[in-house]
Amino acid sequence: MFSESLRQRYPLQTDFFKNAILKNKLANSYIFISRSKDDLFEFSLEIAKILNCKENASKKKEPCNICINCKWLNSNSHPHALITIQVEKESKKEQIKIDSIRELLGNLQISSDHYKVIFFEESNLNILSAESCNLLLKKVEETPPKILFIFGSSTKNDILPTILSRSQIIYLNKQYTSLLEPVTSSHIPEDLSFPPSNIKEALDKAKATFEHINENNLSMKDFLISQAFSLYSKGGHPDGKDFLRLYKNLNESYMKHRAFIQNKTVIEDLFINSVK
Ligand SMILES: [Zn+2]
Repeated sequence: MFSESLRQRYPLQTDFFKNAILKNKLANSYIFISRSKDDLFEFSLEIAKILNCKENASKKKEPCNICINCKWLNSNSHPHALITIQVEKESKKEQIKIDSIRELLGNLQISSDHYKVIFFEESNLNILSAESCNLLLKKVEETPPKILFIFGSSTKNDILPTILSRSQIIYLNKQYTSLLEPVTSSHIPEDLSFPPSNIKEALDKAKATFEHINENNLSMKDFLISQAFSLYSKGGHPDGKDFLRLYKNLNESYMKHRAFIQNKTVIEDLFINSVK
């Protein structure tokens, strides 16, 4: 169903959507998390092609790439099947204009045979304002048939909770097959030593860690286990044990802060609780 290239890069995610589409169980709204804007767009485009290809009604094959819908989609000029809501880059404040949202809502009123995929290239609160989200909310909540919202974002933080709670989250991140992979595939900065000796240091380290894991597409789990591993492998460095202890405490911290869904809070909590 999906192209070879997407299947290779995102085996779990393409499988997930293949099942959802074949079983007619697509949700109304997804949040796609990825640092690659190109991949966010490519994945959304592929879904729009699968849902609209004229030669692939069973959805079992890959989109034909030659029917009128595929052609229009490939040239990013399909007026209905893929509506991309872009960030207004000319204005001082990079944002999605509220007029774009009004125009979109008007477009969604028009009935069409197409499966409309609405792709937001960015969905952080700074970009997609609370005012825009409120306008959108009713449509996201009671999505008419054959409309699919995809909110692209580089992070789960800073997405308005009203959108977050009505959408399924899909991570388009690098998949590791072993906990050891992050150790070899990412450079771990020396200055993230552990444990901190006071609260200021704890918060500074939490901030640096948060930035580090975001930049490298790691999870907190990956980060802690790779720290512990690399320190242990340097002749059983005593800090290795501390990272292992943090790793074990991680679930507790996640449970405690689940309501906030903020990675940053969890990481700060871990570091503050570890002050010597
Ligand atoms: Zn086609």
